[in-house]
Amino acid sequence: MSFVMGPLLWTTLLIFILAISTRTLACFFAVMRSGKNEDYRWRYRLATLGRSLLPFYRAAPKDPLYAAVRYAFHVCLVVAPLWASGHIVMLSVSRFGWSWAPLPDPWADAMTLLVVILAAYFFIRRLAVRDIQLNASNPRYVLIVISAFPFLTGFIAHHQWFDYRAVLTTHMLTGEALLVVAAFLFCRTWFNAAKCTGCAACVIKCPTGTLESRDKGRFRFFTYCTSQCIGCGTCIATCPEDAAELHHEISLKGFFRGFVKQEIGSVELKVCEKCGCFFGPMLQLEQVEGMMADRKMGISTLKYCDKCRRRLMLNLSAVLHR
Ligand code: SF4
Ligand code: SF4
Repeated sequence: MSFVMGPLLWTTLLIFILAISTRTLACFFAVMRSGKNEDYRWRYRLATLGRSLLPFYRAAPKDPLYAAVRYAFHVCLVVAPLWASGHIVMLSVSRFGWSWAPLPDPWADAMTLLVVILAAYFFIRRLAVRDIQLNASNPRYVLIVISAFPFLTGFIAHHQWFDYRAVLTTHMLTGEALLVVAAFLFCRTWFNAAKCTGCAACVIKCPTGTLESRDKGRFRFFTYCTSQCIGCGTCIATCPEDAAELHHEISLKGFFRGFVKQEIGSVELKVCEKCGCFFGPMLQLEQVEGMMADRKMGISTLKYCDKCRRRLMLNLSAVLHR
């Protein structure tokens, strides 16, 4: 018990503080140095960073009720442990002697129970909704369990139910596990390959420039850097195909990989029927062709790249004016 409340706790706190400070600094420099738009003023970049405190806010209108539930969960997840009277007493008797006004016990209890109930809801939702089930990996189930356990055991320990010592030890151990997980937990943008048409609307709208696209050979590649992403959800709100998603990912490797651009998706490009070069994304052009065919509009120009299409139009207008 003394090891769990002593060296293990301080080591965990140290890992958490170091990892979070490094990630915050990396995000600050990545956003401030963003080359997306050289005209962006410092004020805009600082405001962009400020918006990272309200993750997912741009995508909230797509599903406001679920967004409200997620915000409630995350607020309670942070506020309840920071203002729990038991934690403040523990800090006040430590060598630091820090203390602040705690939350009234009924409030802390309500917030703690809300975290446990909502975690159970997220867990069941993942099991029950087929679309989410397909995207959910096992670490995400583990993440929900790890988030709920310290709150459940903390509630039981606070009310001194069962064997107080055993429950408190479990609470400390699971709380320390949650801190380590939080240090290496990322909210990462992800493209659903089955839905993405490669239109690049998300790249244009991404406020930090972390999403980029590059056409190489017969493919358009999308790259992304975790440390430059503020999790605003603009890509989700912009995507016309509902292909962009933000996923939680726990990864030690991701901590180091988060500082470099990684490929997160690719789509095939269409070949120009005149000059043979690769131009717009195949899926997107096929989609437009389908829409135009439905409206009985001419679609032949979509077979050619910009250059050939312009040449074709010039030739056509020359013929018409002859
Ligand atoms: S990748 Fe998406 S969530 Fe991240 S900063 Fe860009 S728009 Fe926002
Ligand atoms: S994720 Fe959506 S917005 Fe981004 S390229 Fe794919 S379809 Fe377009």
